[in-house]
Amino acid sequence: MKLPASFQSIRAALENGTLTCAQLVEHYLENIHERNHLNAFLEVFEDEARSKAAKIDEKLVSNTAGRLAGMVISIKDVLCYEDHNLQASSKILGGFESQFTATAVERLLAEDAIIIGRTNCDEFAMGSSNENSAFGPVLNAADRERVPGGSSGGAAVSVQADLCLVALGSDTGGSVRQPAAFCGVIGLKPTYSRISRHGLVAYASSFDSIGVFAKEVEDIALVLEVIAGEDDFDSTVSRHKVGHYSDNITTHTQNYKLAYVKETLESPGLSESIKTNILGHIEELKAAGHTVEQVNFPLLQHILPTYYILTWAEASSNLSRFDGVRYGYRSPNTTDLSSLYKKTRTEGFGEEVKRRIMLGTFVLSASYYDAYYTKAQKTRKLIRDQTKAILQEYDFIITPTTPTTAFKLGEHSQDPLEMYLADLYTVQPSVAGLPAISLPSGMDEKNLPIGLQVIADDFKEKELLKFSHYFLNLN
Ligand code: GLN
Repeated sequence: MKLPASFQSIRAALENGTLTCAQLVEHYLENIHERNHLNAFLEVFEDEARSKAAKIDEKLVSNTAGRLAGMVISIKDVLCYEDHNLQASSKILGGFESQFTATAVERLLAEDAIIIGRTNCDEFAMGSSNENSAFGPVLNAADRERVPGGSSGGAAVSVQADLCLVALGSDTGGSVRQPAAFCGVIGLKPTYSRISRHGLVAYASSFDSIGVFAKEVEDIALVLEVIAGEDDFDSTVSRHKVGHYSDNITTHTQNYKLAYVKETLESPGLSESIKTNILGHIEELKAAGHTVEQVNFPLLQHILPTYYILTWAEASSNLSRFDGVRYGYRSPNTTDLSSLYKKTRTEGFGEEVKRRIMLGTFVLSASYYDAYYTKAQKTRKLIRDQTKAILQEYDFIITPTTPTTAFKLGEHSQDPLEMYLADLYTVQPSVAGLPAISLPSGMDEKNLPIGLQVIADDFKEKELLKFSHYFLNLN
């Protein structure tokens, strides 16, 4: 069965009776089984998806179906779904079942979306290749010897390989945008505080954001519209009005004013083909009548250290709750309380998570707090202010999403620093709390997808999505 590409056309087929949700779900389940080797899912909710589909088919007939009826969605294994297992791809949450549903997921369900399963990711969303999962790596469907990116690698591949239509992931420093770029799909991280974090496993709370993957901008817009906005369970959610993101997305009347950052194109790790690709797009946009100008951002080299110091610090505090007493795994060989904590955490956490907990504890320790943590907080403010200053003058900033295309499995796993460099460009909007999207923008010489990142000012998701639609239809 060949499915229509966008949700709008799927919905039209459901409404005119040429397709049923039951068929839709079977189609995705078949793909999931056939492409099982990609390891994108940790669990597939087969029976549940089937019975949901049958119910929604009835609702469609009686005209009572919600806005997302017919949308099949995967959720990253960091989002709570009541009575379903949740592990954040970690051994330490073995056997844990959610007691409530994340607000974002709840809102999808209320509009009749079908949740087809939970996707593999880096443990506690820490990583850039999905190789830090306790359940093995996810393979990139574009080249099975390569990583899909991370940490939402399974989510990206679930959309890339047609295992569902849309995926929810989480993005702290690039975990939606970087895998989207590696897999040739679209990935949006909205403004910090746009979407409730209630029911999202915390990595670094002042950065964490739920994000959306899809192949069509319209689908991302619709999902964002449904899940964004105030929530009694998360007092940090912004009161800023949720826009009608999906309305008039195809009308482009504006002459855009875009900035690109000199230092991003001069960074030594940037691959030649990505550089050529973005320079080509800059010329193309200019030729289409838009203003595209070079700006400076001398702080660029400080963004990655700032990001890592602050997220390690927050992670060390957030992950202290996994102690073997309350959740999931508990080491069987303990003799007293202190050995219970020690052994459970030693056995339950993977290497990268332990590294971050230790470094985070270090930067928060009394003698180093000011030298690292306070300094990084100050730098964060400067990075935000200077990024926003550019956005006062320009509609958007464009950068490559990643310095390279998808790398080989194992290529960086022995060298954490190399791995961290994969986030060079995605961390800027994360540190600044700004919305950003990765758009498929071509292929390199190995036929691997390239992503273009577009950064907007706070709460300019509507404008960002409109521009994304424009950009993707430019040719
Ligand atoms: N790769 C980044 C990190 O490891 C980003 C992770 C994320 O966004 N969750 O921190």
